[in-house]
Amino acid sequence: MNLLVTAGPTREYWDPVRFLSNRSSGKMGYAVAAEAARRGHAVTLVSGPTALLTPGGVTLVRVTTAAEMLTAVRAALPECEVLVMAAAVSDWRPVQCAAEKRKKCGAQPDFELEPTPDILKTVKDLKGARTFVGFAAETDHLLEEAARKLADKGLDLIVANDVTQPDAGFDVDTNRVILLAPDAPPVALPLGSKRAVARELLRWIERARGESIEEPTTELPRAGGARLARQMAFVAEVDKLKQIVRRTWLTDGSRYENDAEHSWHLALMAVLLSEHAPVALDVGRVIRMALVHDLVEIDAGDTYCYD
Ligand code: C5P
Repeated sequence: MNLLVTAGPTREYWDPVRFLSNRSSGKMGYAVAAEAARRGHAVTLVSGPTALLTPGGVTLVRVTTAAEMLTAVRAALPECEVLVMAAAVSDWRPVQCAAEKRKKCGAQPDFELEPTPDILKTVKDLKGARTFVGFAAETDHLLEEAARKLADKGLDLIVANDVTQPDAGFDVDTNRVILLAPDAPPVALPLGSKRAVARELLRWIERARGESIEEPTTELPRAGGARLARQMAFVAEVDKLKQIVRRTWLTDGSRYENDAEHSWHLALMAVLLSEHAPVALDVGRVIRMALVHDLVEIDAGDTYCYD
């Protein structure tokens, strides 16, 4: 299956250095993404700001605001059969973000707030045969609120989470949740690690979609999954870069160089010469971009500046 998982909080800025957000650490969503990859699914993880490591075998898309999360979800959804919205999206955002940092000694902040887009409701029309799962983090009336959101957002399942308990909800490594689906009795899961809760959630999703997955025996992302197949296809595709002949000569003038050689040389120069850049560079990013910057020429051929 292709899964789209969201995680973490969003930040809604009211000046360049201050924002509204919430206590979400992202741990629950990251656990869902990691467990899904372990079970052999292809996973795109759209994450708000967190301090967590990207789980192996997962494609990470970083976002900051609710609006950016909506854009990222919309972009990835067509390829996915399952959406798990574990993110704690900020419900409100300042109407405007001040261009400069507001002075502490000035007037009290008086910014106006507006609701952020409800991502699940916005993408409801795109649901089709997809499975949509939401989370309901509540401090009171847990089941009533969860049932209301389940119906309101048109979900197949909602994970109800009492966030008043010290061993469940925000920031901790354990969780205690109730799974609530339309027309079915609630299923209360025992207290467990977020990874164990993620496993039960994924078993529910796999059952709902008629997928039978053999329980993995290792903690590593399952090899041979759809993601690894796509990675191997990419490795084979980029081999074609070696066939694209450029109009530039090798230094000894013996022949033209090809695009693969050119990209490698550029990446090497980025490492070697970065100390001369006038600003601090993310050299890893420059290398990654240099290595792929000519992939378009596999289809377009070598187009040179005077063409
Ligand atoms: O914030 P709320 O309790 O309504 O969240 C319930 C579900 O809706 C969660 O799965 C959350 O990720 C999602 N949500 C959303 N867009 C928002 C707020 C919440 O998709 N703006």
